Amino acid sequence: MKTVLITGAARGIGRAIARKFASEGYAVAINYNKSKDEAEQLKKELIEKGAKTEILCADVADADAVSKMVENVTSIFGDIDVLVNNAGIALPQGLFSDVPECDMKRVFDVDVFGLMNCTKAVIPQMVRRKSGKIINISSIWGVCGGSCETVYSAAKAAVIGFTKALAKELGPSGITVNCIAPGLIDTDMNGHLSEDDIDDFCQDVPLGRMGKPEDVANAVWFLASNSADYMTGQVLNVDGGMI
Ligand code: NAP
Repeated sequence: MKTVLITGAARGIGRAIARKFASEGYAVAINYNKSKDEAEQLKKELIEKGAKTEILCADVADADAVSKMVENVTSIFGDIDVLVNNAGIALPQGLFSDVPECDMKRVFDVDVFGLMNCTKAVIPQMVRRKSGKIINISSIWGVCGGSCETVYSAAKAAVIGFTKALAKELGPSGITVNCIAPGLIDTDMNGHLSEDDIDDFCQDVPLGRMGKPEDVANAVWFLASNSADYMTGQVLNVDGGMI
């Protein structure tokens, strides 16, 4: 049985990814930070469906906690075949001049360094086995930049740069590194948007709707599957054709 570790998997896109991998027969390690109840509920749901799963609390920005988490996953399920770096935070929309320094740092700590911490912790076992798939969740704002989303756009652009560079570094070890750039997806992250805001946004989406977490989960599954064995260093937009 193969094992996937998904960060930020108790809610939103991460939860949809966990459900998808569980339904495909993977052992699923569910990382959470604050959403303990949701993580426990998801664990119960997946076990009832016959999946092997465990929940692991860690703030991805804390390198020591991440390293312990990866040790735990490995001792429970064996080596990790797929790492999905999904955990992320965004700031309320606003002018760059008004973003406090502590908020700028926290976004990079979670969205960039958190992702690097998790990646660094799984690389040795993947290199040893000469196989593995790392899938990072960026954003369309990391591809094209979003007004009043500058810090988040910069962090998600860093994820893309990291993905492309690491793919070159790890290719000779048989490890693929790809990323997904979702458009507007219906999760808590966009819970602050009014129906009018969403309608306005969807005017620029050729498919005319927000994405569902499952739309992203299906793309992650594709990148993790053998169908994507010859793809690495790529950015897959899951955005209804927006960019
Ligand atoms: P969400 O519903 O707000 O969920 C965010 C997830 O990230 C939660 O599971 C949360 O875990 C986890 N997380 C946040 N900080 C963490 C930390 N320090 N350590 C570990 N986990 C942490 O957002 P989402 O829409 O599912 O977003 C998932 C990913 O997709 C993010 O990287 C986001 O930037 C990206 N994305 C989302 C959209 C969108 O429109 N929704 C678009 C493009 C990209 P806890 O609740 O346990 O703290």
